[in-house]
Amino acid sequence: MSERISLADPVLGEAEKEALARVIDEGWLTMGDRVKSLEDAFARLHGVEGAVAVSSCTAGLHLCLAALDIGPGDEVLLPSLTFVATANTVLYAGARPVFVDIQRMDLPHLSMEDARAKLTSRTRGVIVMHYGGYPVDLPGWRAFADAHGLKLVEDAAHAPGVGEVGRWGDAAAFSFFANKNMTTAEGGMVLARDPVVLQDIRFMRAHGMTTGTLDRHRGHAHSYDVTMLGYNYRMDELRAALGLEQIRRLGQWNARRRKLAGYYRRVLGQALPVVIVPFQDGQETAAHLMAVLLPADAARERVMDQLREAGIQSSIHYPPVHQFSYYRDRFGPVCLPLTEGFSKRELTLPLHPSLTEAQVERVVGTLQRALEKS
Ligand SMILES: *Cc1c(COP(=O)(O)O)cnc(C)c1O
Repeated sequence: MSERISLADPVLGEAEKEALARVIDEGWLTMGDRVKSLEDAFARLHGVEGAVAVSSCTAGLHLCLAALDIGPGDEVLLPSLTFVATANTVLYAGARPVFVDIQRMDLPHLSMEDARAKLTSRTRGVIVMHYGGYPVDLPGWRAFADAHGLKLVEDAAHAPGVGEVGRWGDAAAFSFFANKNMTTAEGGMVLARDPVVLQDIRFMRAHGMTTGTLDRHRGHAHSYDVTMLGYNYRMDELRAALGLEQIRRLGQWNARRRKLAGYYRRVLGQALPVVIVPFQDGQETAAHLMAVLLPADAARERVMDQLREAGIQSSIHYPPVHQFSYYRDRFGPVCLPLTEGFSKRELTLPLHPSLTEAQVERVVGTLQRALEKS
């Protein structure tokens, strides 16, 4: 059996173990100084004034929509080529998701043309998703949102630490789930342009309460009021301690991911020119996913089986949300030809900071043999 190559490996070590042990020794487990420090570090990373740490990106997206006052009767434009969480949060807010196709097979971002065609008098927001860590055309989407009086939300789960991400949307949510570019096991972060919206998100994260337990513990406040409907979407100190270790190395990991993605591109270009690699070489990216498109007639499941037999994990990003039973039953059939075509041919190859160039060559070599057989 050859060495196993996993799709996404978190980088965890002594630093994280020690950070967790320190929290346990100190005994303050949640909503403390570490959460605040992680928020400050993340805000600095994205060049903004403030950030709110949350229990997941899903919770964060829900808060973005709620704080932007998107609710029942409203329609939200969003990709179907995304993780189901993006669409679920629109339902949590009580709004209706309106699925929009992608631009092209080699540019799987939300299509502005299709979004424009799907505008109605009820459209209140648009969620863009930075697929694979490649930022969408943010100035373009900002202008689109402004022209049509919409709120712009960024699902930035794939793109922590990337240039302008999180600065153009009215609000943006990032994920620190175990397989993302930096992890707190479960966790996420929210940014918002308007400080009032960010403050609302901060209150909504903890039941709409006007003061936190640490403020009361330190004698800054004795009681609290509840001024809005909130949730328990808090991050704890253990997770924040992990995040503080991870965020220090995020830049270096993202650079390594970009380098490996470039190497994949070159090796695939030579060995398998029939395989399409979306996006462009040298484009700004957090290189979260190594997504490729197999030839239309390739038997993808057999290819994935052969990769697995060689110890190589692969995946599909994503089965279109509009085709899931729940969404079909609730909203009826939707036709998104490019999303469906992309999703049928897409294969995600291993990409993480600890991968080696030799492993990239082994993945591509195995893929080449599997495609010849299929
Ligand atoms: C991972 C992911 C999410 C959800 O993140 P959680 O932190 O697990 O809630 C949302 N959107 C996209 C595109 C993701 O990849």
